[in-house]
Amino acid sequence: SGGDDEQVRNKQVIFNDYVYGFPKESDMYVSTNGPRRFQWDCGDPYTRNRMTKPDTGNYYVDYLKPGVVYINNDLNVEIMQPINGLGVAKVLDSGHPNFKKGDLVWGNTGWEEYSLITDFQLLFKIQHTNVPLSYYTGILGMPGLTAYGGFYEVCSPKKGDTVFISAASGAVGQLVGQFAKLLGCYVVGSAGSKEKVDLLKNKFKFNEAFNYKEEPDLDATLKRYFPEGIDIYFENVGGKMLDAVLLNMRAHGRIAACGLISQYNLDKPEGVHNLMHLIYKRIRMEGFVVFDYFHLYPKFLEFVLPQIAEGKIVYLEDIAEGLEHGPSALVGLFSDLNVGKQELNLLAM
Ligand code: NDP
Repeated sequence: SGGDDEQVRNKQVIFNDYVYGFPKESDMYVSTNGPRRFQWDCGDPYTRNRMTKPDTGNYYVDYLKPGVVYINNDLNVEIMQPINGLGVAKVLDSGHPNFKKGDLVWGNTGWEEYSLITDFQLLFKIQHTNVPLSYYTGILGMPGLTAYGGFYEVCSPKKGDTVFISAASGAVGQLVGQFAKLLGCYVVGSAGSKEKVDLLKNKFKFNEAFNYKEEPDLDATLKRYFPEGIDIYFENVGGKMLDAVLLNMRAHGRIAACGLISQYNLDKPEGVHNLMHLIYKRIRMEGFVVFDYFHLYPKFLEFVLPQIAEGKIVYLEDIAEGLEHGPSALVGLFSDLNVGKQELNLLAM
């Protein structure tokens, strides 16, 4: 596939001699393969979760849909299907009234050069192009809205709160910390290397940061950084860190359960031992999924775009070049290799 618009004619797309038509009149084709700035797709931890047979419990939900939608079948990526991914693309042809040829969009494009879009719940038109387009896979896309919804809606934050964030230098964590600082909170982050700890303190301006791999007793470490306890914990990792945090939470604290990345590759998740502290201290721990906050996206952009323009919020990206490096970049998220938001430039130059 050569990637030019000429390939879309009469609602047909031709790739490698196959002719694809529009299944429905309102469908749309997009391309992530164009001039350099259109090519970003992302590597997200949830992509990994789509590759394992999920623990469906008794009431399994499609967490990629806004609201709670119960389903019976699982949501795995099928063999021979493209990997999930929220990317940036250009519309090649569209039967949808809200999108026209040439529009830039971000959303559920998959790790592929061309995508047929039939579900528009996860597709947004890009209106602001005076920022790097790659930002729409990070700060201005799903991770940005995760940080915004998770912090402002779930954590009920206020000035002066003490805030702890795990996986703090990553796509979501770096933003949560900066939002909390803007509000006047005391912010500490944990990360897995000296380089990341330095970034947290110097680039993202956290009050403090530590390398959890060098801390044999996480309870003691948290006591050291939070002698008066933690008001808000933004949970990205789970496992031993969650247990240590529970011991250090203040009364009426809030825990936003965003992710449990330390558990995703385990055959059997670790147990959590200190849950009684939720009760003793009247802590509210709430799970959330970013797709429930898409209605806040315009408000979020209104908030974050000026902060970016004024340099009050910065964003660090880690870019893998070429589709062939996608798998190693994705695996790298689980070996702590990414420094900042992992992105994938589908077409390396
Ligand atoms: P990151 O950019 O933070 O990348 C993942 C990081 O997780 C790694 O770099 C590593 O950082 C850390 N990590 C990996 N394995 C472990 C482990 N075993 N123990 C502790 N830390 C580990 O990812 P994102 O910001 O994209 O995602 C952060 C979390 O948010 C994930 O749990 C993800 O599933 C979740 N998420 C949830 C969403 C929702 O809607 N609820 C939406 C988006 C993300 P380090 O070197 O610091 O250890």
